[in-house]
Amino acid sequence: MEKPWTLSQARALFDLPFFALLFQAQQVHRQHFDPQQIQISTLLSIKTGACPEKCKYCPQSARYKTGLKAERLLEVQ
Ligand code: SF4
Repeated sequence: MEKPWTLSQARALFDLPFFALLFQAQQVHRQHFDPQQIQISTLLSIKTGACPEKCKYCPQSARYKTGLKAERLLEVQ
């Protein structure tokens, strides 16, 4: 298990110039991942207008009039 960062280590990271930070991040990334490989993800609304929760920012909630047509919950497949 790695040791937790010290406050001065964290501050030093925040103080790095942006491109030095970017370069350092790329080096760490390349230690663990193929730099030529990318993952593409998309968001999918699976219960548009049909969720029983009432998160105010979410158009999937059934409690707010968003102008969207409610749809049935998508099948897992
Ligand atoms: S209303 Fe809330 S719980 Fe329901 S889908 Fe939206 S964010 Fe998720």
